[in-house]
Amino acid sequence: MYAFLRAESAKKQRLSASPLRSLATKAPPGTPQWSSKVVVSFRRLSGTPRMFKALYLTKADQFRAEMRELEEAELKANTPEADTTVVVDYSTINYKDGLALTNKSPVVRKWPMVPGIDCAGRVQISASAEMRAGDQVVLNGWGAGETMWGGLAQRGRYKGEQLVRLPAPLTTRDAMSIGTAGYTAMLAAMALADSGVTGGEVLVTGATGGVGSFAVAILAQRGHRVVASTGKLAEADYLQMLGAAEVIDRAELSAAGKPLQKERWAGVVDSVGSQTLANACAQVRYGGVVVACGLAQGMDFPSTVAPFILRGARLIGVDSVMCPTDRRTQAWQYLAQELDRAKLAAVTREIALGEAFEAGRAILAGEIRGRVVVDVNR
Ligand code: NDP
Repeated sequence: MYAFLRAESAKKQRLSASPLRSLATKAPPGTPQWSSKVVVSFRRLSGTPRMFKALYLTKADQFRAEMRELEEAELKANTPEADTTVVVDYSTINYKDGLALTNKSPVVRKWPMVPGIDCAGRVQISASAEMRAGDQVVLNGWGAGETMWGGLAQRGRYKGEQLVRLPAPLTTRDAMSIGTAGYTAMLAAMALADSGVTGGEVLVTGATGGVGSFAVAILAQRGHRVVASTGKLAEADYLQMLGAAEVIDRAELSAAGKPLQKERWAGVVDSVGSQTLANACAQVRYGGVVVACGLAQGMDFPSTVAPFILRGARLIGVDSVMCPTDRRTQAWQYLAQELDRAKLAAVTREIALGEAFEAGRAILAGEIRGRVVVDVNR
């Protein structure tokens, strides 16, 4: 017990020395500042201010990312199909948010945009039959931060059916510690179980990332022997703390390999794509299942049909964005039942809304281990 507490304290010290933490005292050049157009008067209605802070992306002649105060009327005008207003407590930084915040890839398809593919908070007011004021809810995907205003803001407006009521004992902070990464990892674990892979040795790639970290923890908790593939071998202790039985160098999987290799995995959760996904398919056991959920190495898939027609391997895709409500509700219920909250705390660090820009850059550079929760109210 005391050893665990000492390890936690050492981890906190390491995190407090991280580049993200240092932002609180020293903003790097180019860090967006408050817009000069900001109006700072607060008018109160039903206990909540009518103005709120939001990250705000524009692209007139050039891309611009800043933090602004917005009027609720502006939120309403930009979310005409929404029927439910959420007072947001927390959001988070996913790989896709990194792409949007840095404009590295055309993730944002409508301007201006409030980024953030997920958030958690409390329903303020709703015209939806699904939601009541005061409900604690989580939003993942549905185009948030891409085609509709997203969660990196103190307020959001969505359709009631897009929100999932948070199952106990999860808090809104837990929900964003899990975020789209954890929810996607659970969808991947559900895909393996639904395909009959309920035990045996499984491979998780991109293991220190958001999706990977949760996949390691969930699959170990479900009784698999988890082999974690990572480019950060120095993080082996972290991966073992999550439940990995073995840690391998991702270099073993990331270069071109033979179409059929030694059979090893009952199942694979891959968040990397490209040659890694091709090698995972080439190494899966007869009848095994590979779940593809990401493209951190690349979008290509340089494989052959050999694993599928000679070993009956199955390749299943997971999409968190448009996943039907019943399945996402089920995923959140499993997350509430199965996740060890001490591990959840160990994989999470917290930043303020204004620090999200630097975190977006860091996630694309592969510098982030685990999860970054954004407290939108600080
Ligand atoms: P992270 O950045 O947190 O994790 C990605 C991990 O992949 C990194 O931590 C690193 O892990 C590994 N990695 C990075 N670059 C490379 C590379 N060039 N070659 C091999 N491995 C690499 O992102 P997330 O976990 O949030 O997302 C992972 C992927 O899943 C992304 O592509 C994202 O777009 C996708 N995604 C898909 C969803 C869906 O609905 N299908 C939902 C959420 C995410 P390590 O250092 O341990 O090797």
